[in-house]
Amino acid sequence: MSDTVPQTLCHPDGRKSCGACCGLYNHVVHDEEATWARLLRRTRAFYQEASVGDEQSLTKFREKWEDGPEDKLLTGLRSCPFLGFVDFDPAEDETRQGRPKQVGCLVHPLQNDGVDGRDCGIYDRFICEDYLCAAHDVLRRAEIRLVLDAVDDSYLYGLAVTNPKFVRKLLELVADRTGALPGGTVLRRPEVIAAAGRCFELMRDWPYRAEDGIFGQVEVAGELDTARRKMPAELLGVEEAPEDVLLVCMGTQCDTVEELKEARQIVVEVVDRLADAAQ
Ligand code: SF4
Ligand code: SF4
Repeated sequence: MSDTVPQTLCHPDGRKSCGACCGLYNHVVHDEEATWARLLRRTRAFYQEASVGDEQSLTKFREKWEDGPEDKLLTGLRSCPFLGFVDFDPAEDETRQGRPKQVGCLVHPLQNDGVDGRDCGIYDRFICEDYLCAAHDVLRRAEIRLVLDAVDDSYLYGLAVTNPKFVRKLLELVADRTGALPGGTVLRRPEVIAAAGRCFELMRDWPYRAEDGIFGQVEVAGELDTARRKMPAELLGVEEAPEDVLLVCMGTQCDTVEELKEARQIVVEVVDRLADAAQ
């Protein structure tokens, strides 16, 4: 098991990657199955319809495959049609066992023998190259390592690594139970990693998620506007619980106090198990 933390979080290892800032989750239908099916369709089409050395084919591909406002949650934010599966090999498509796993840029020069097609995407090569999301500044090394160890697939990884508040609050809730914030050594223990994995798993298909809850505490408030999601307890006029921060980080919407209690109970159980493992 590696002790190191990569400088950038986008492609941390050969098993998972993130495509959140290219628009992976910015779709009205963003569950895992639909997202993967969409990405696979587009990746196949890319190899059939476009070539990175042919600018005209890239422009045509973008016109055809870029999501329109009716498909997106944040309608004013572009979603790049060149986000696909970088471990997809068209020559092995028929014989491949299992589905591709690594999301990434199909027109990146590392993917295309140095030819760069990113100027035909939704930004340009400089923005694509330089952009690093807030997680790079906010997450501590031990927190990054925990996410890397506890999450092993791209769909969940992108949700977890771009949700630093969830990661931090999770460990603070553990500290409330054990009396100390778990340090790097504790967070490398297999039982702690497994228990943390169960906590992150909640994000994959959280049953209490609002329609735009895939963005966590960020609520869609217009074309490009966002607002901070209110605590479910505040909306229902009841007292807040410490675990409610995790609920809001998962984009929770509870219509009744009973629902809120059920949602809290699920969270409390996995946090308790993580705290037991971290003792
Ligand atoms: S959202 Fe962050 S981690 Fe994900 S691809 Fe973008 S910069 Fe990388
Ligand atoms: S061109 Fe830029 S925005 Fe589009 S997939 Fe590649 S890196 Fe992401």
